[in-house]
Amino acid sequence: MKDVLVIGAGGVSSVAVHKMAKNPELFGKITLASRRQFKCDAIAQSVKERFGVTIDTAQVDADDVAATSKLIEQVKPNLLVNLALPYQDLNLMDACLNTGTDYLDTANYEPRDEARFHYGWQWDYQDRFKNAGLMALLGSGFDPGVTSVFAMYIKKHLLDTIRTLDILDCNGGDHGQHFATNFNPEINIREITAPARHWENGEWVETPALSTRQVFEFDQVGAKNMYLMYHEELESLAKFIPEMERARFWMTFGEQYLTHLRVLQNVGLTSIEPIMFEGREIVPLQFLKAVLPEPSTLGTTTKGKTNIGDIATGTKDGEEKTFYVYNVCDHEDAFEETGNQAVSYTTGVPAMIGAALMLNGTWRGEGVFNMEQFDPDPFMDMLNQHGLPWQVHELDGPLKF
Ligand code: NDP
Repeated sequence: MKDVLVIGAGGVSSVAVHKMAKNPELFGKITLASRRQFKCDAIAQSVKERFGVTIDTAQVDADDVAATSKLIEQVKPNLLVNLALPYQDLNLMDACLNTGTDYLDTANYEPRDEARFHYGWQWDYQDRFKNAGLMALLGSGFDPGVTSVFAMYIKKHLLDTIRTLDILDCNGGDHGQHFATNFNPEINIREITAPARHWENGEWVETPALSTRQVFEFDQVGAKNMYLMYHEELESLAKFIPEMERARFWMTFGEQYLTHLRVLQNVGLTSIEPIMFEGREIVPLQFLKAVLPEPSTLGTTTKGKTNIGDIATGTKDGEEKTFYVYNVCDHEDAFEETGNQAVSYTTGVPAMIGAALMLNGTWRGEGVFNMEQFDPDPFMDMLNQHGLPWQVHELDGPLKF
């Protein structure tokens, strides 16, 4: 009852599969399938060398629902873990419905031809999963994922109501490259170049991309510029913590990264509008992805730490209080354990934890679920046990910006 089929063989998948193999009491047979089998085989070899565990590999195009359904029928997993790209979410959910299989992912569905993402497309599967007696868990990465679990932990233990919530995502790592993204470049650049959006007094407030900047002193990283952005967990947090007056998401970027991004944008290389090139249609952003370093190759050179967490202000027994819950993850430690840098590590570990909690029935339900809908405590305990320890600090007062 603990067998998993993992789809996708990038950095996040590599971490999740290493961590699954490292915890045989939580996982049974592990099968890894992706578009290109040699990537699965390389992960399988590393898992064998590090932990002595054999995993099965297969080739599949996850955009092909019939082919994926056939693979699921052969493998018969108890859970499909989608660590491919957000484009594949709906096709993989359809394949799970075809075969009676539970589903988990780390990023919400995004159509290829529109830089637009929201949970609506996947929430629409609620009745189909419920009627089939199946469970889908959405967004079990770090952000989204752990950031929602942190918010629910604050709400359960530290505050009676949350008035304002700020999610702060800092990558203080340096990979030594002129320009590279820490996870899939296409998804990453689409996210960063989209307008910023935050939740305020019951509505979304939109501002131009990267136009609001603040400086924040991150524990074990130092002072960094961080920028207001839209991030998908704001949507589920606004739904499941309805009393929130304001919810914002901030991410740090260095000057060098932003300068490169600006130039690439100005010359049209971040566009998702197809163009004709030497007689064939190409999408500039997909071409850019092809010439950028693969995130899974950055681990060998990345040094420094990530610091991601939630700052929440609200009332406890009638008194206003502010709490900060965060994790610090070291790129080199993550690489030593799994062969991947911390951005993949901080996503792959929560994917493994979400999968384990589904497989052992601790997080259970029928239908489509977000992280906010379950008890945060078992997830928080497993973060401490599996390499992403967190800390809680009470701050003197709310953020001053
Ligand atoms: P990568 O691009 O490194 O890996 C994606 C993998 O999916 C690749 O192995 C790719 O194949 C495979 N793939 C793509 N298309 C298909 C397809 N049609 N069929 C089968 N396999 C396919 O991405 P990451 O590992 O960095 O990210 C994985 C996921 O995690 C993404 O959805 C990303 O948005 C999400 N993420 C979530 C975060 C969170 O905190 N919640 C943070 C970071 C990422 P190939 O190797 O052949 O290209």
